[in-house]
Amino acid sequence: MADTDLYEVLGLSKTASDAEIKKAYRKLAKEFHPDKNPQHGDKFKEISYAYEVLSNPEKRETYDNYGMEGIRGEAGPDFGGEDIFSHFFGGGLFGGLGGFGGGRRRKQRGEDTVHPLRVTLEDLYNGKTSKLQLSKNVICRICNGQGGKQGALQTCRVCHGRGVKVTIRQIGPGMVQQMQSVCPECHGEGETINEKDKCKTCHGKKVVKESKILQVHVDKGMKDGQRITFRWEGDQTPGLEPGDVIIVLQQREHDVFQRSGVDLYMTHSIGLTEALCGFQFIVKHLDNREICVRYPPGNIISPGCTRAVVGEGMPMYKNPFEKGNLYIKFDVQFPENHFADEKNLKMLEKLLPPRPKQAAVAADDVEEVDLMEYDPRQSSSNSRRDMYYDEEDDDMHQGHGMQCAHQ
Ligand SMILES: [Zn+2]
Ligand SMILES: [Zn+2]
Repeated sequence: MADTDLYEVLGLSKTASDAEIKKAYRKLAKEFHPDKNPQHGDKFKEISYAYEVLSNPEKRETYDNYGMEGIRGEAGPDFGGEDIFSHFFGGGLFGGLGGFGGGRRRKQRGEDTVHPLRVTLEDLYNGKTSKLQLSKNVICRICNGQGGKQGALQTCRVCHGRGVKVTIRQIGPGMVQQMQSVCPECHGEGETINEKDKCKTCHGKKVVKESKILQVHVDKGMKDGQRITFRWEGDQTPGLEPGDVIIVLQQREHDVFQRSGVDLYMTHSIGLTEALCGFQFIVKHLDNREICVRYPPGNIISPGCTRAVVGEGMPMYKNPFEKGNLYIKFDVQFPENHFADEKNLKMLEKLLPPRPKQAAVAADDVEEVDLMEYDPRQSSSNSRRDMYYDEEDDDMHQGHGMQCAHQ
C-alpha cells in the first residue's frame, strides 16, 4: 500500500469531487467485494482504504500534502475501518478491519490481511481443520530489519530525516504556499542506505517474503461470515506491530439444507397417500448419519405445511452438544387426473370427510357452467393472467398444469 496512489486506486484524478469519490468507491467495492471476488481480497482493502482517506476532508488534505507518510503519522483518534464497512455492508463480514492507521491502538500497527475461506455446511456442522498457506513479509533476520550493516543507515540528505520535501511557492503578492510531498530520495523513510552497504538478503528493504502455513480450526457451529483472527500473523514492518490475519468463513450453498441460526430447513415432497396415511423417509444428515423421519398414520400433512425434528439442527457454537431444530416443509403431490375410475372414487369418497351441505342445484333459473383446465400461457388477456402465473408456478412443477396445454 505504501507506494500506491489512493486516487489511482479509485481510478480518479486529484480534482475528483466528493460525489465522484463516493460513486467510484461504491462501484469498485461491489466489484471487488471478497464475497464475489475472493482472490482479490487485497484489492478490496485498498479500495476501502483509499475511500476512507479520500472521503474525509481532513484526511484527504493530509494525504494531498504529505502522502501516505502523513496519513500514517497523523491518524486521528477515530481512524478505524469500522465506519465505512458498517455503512456499506451492514456491519457484517468486514466490520472493523481496524489498524489501517493505528490511531486506536497504542502502538502503530501494520495492516490486517483478510482471507476468505470457503467451507461447506458439513464443515460447519462437523468442524474441520484447514491448512492455509500464505505469503507474508517478515523482518529480515540477517540485518534485523535494519536494511544494512550496523551504521550503514544514514539520515536522508534531501529531507534531513523528515521524510517530506517542502516546496515553497508564491501564489500571490506576499502570499506563499508551502507544499509538502513525500521525499523522493528516501521514499518518506527519512533514512537511506548506500547501495554497497545494503543487506544482501533483503536488498535494503528490511523485510523478506516468507510463506507460512496456518492451521485454521473451523469449530462446530461456526457461521457464514464468521471471522477467525490470527493475531500478529499479518505482514511485519520494522517499527510497527504486525497486523492480524483474519480468516472469513464463506459457506457454500447446500443442496438439501438451508441454515438460519442454529436451525436447518429443508423441503420434502410426499404424495397424497402419505399426506393422509402417514409415512417415513430417510434423510442423510450433514454428518452422514441417516435419520429416519416418521409421521404416524392418523396425522395429516397439508400442502406447504412445516414440521419440526427437534434437536437435528446445527450444533451451537462453543456448545456443540446443544443443537437447533430441523424444519421440514412438505410439498404434497396430488394424483393425476383419472387416477381411479368412477366406482373407486365413490368408494374413496365414503372414506373421506363428507362434502359440505349445498343448496339444491335444481332451480330453473340457475345456469350451469363447466370448470376448465387453466393454462396461463394460452390466455387472451395476458397481462392479468401473467400476474397469476407466478403463483401457479408451483403447481406447474408438479406436472399439473403442464399437461393441460396439450389438451
Ligand atoms: Zn536484511
Ligand atoms: Zn528523504
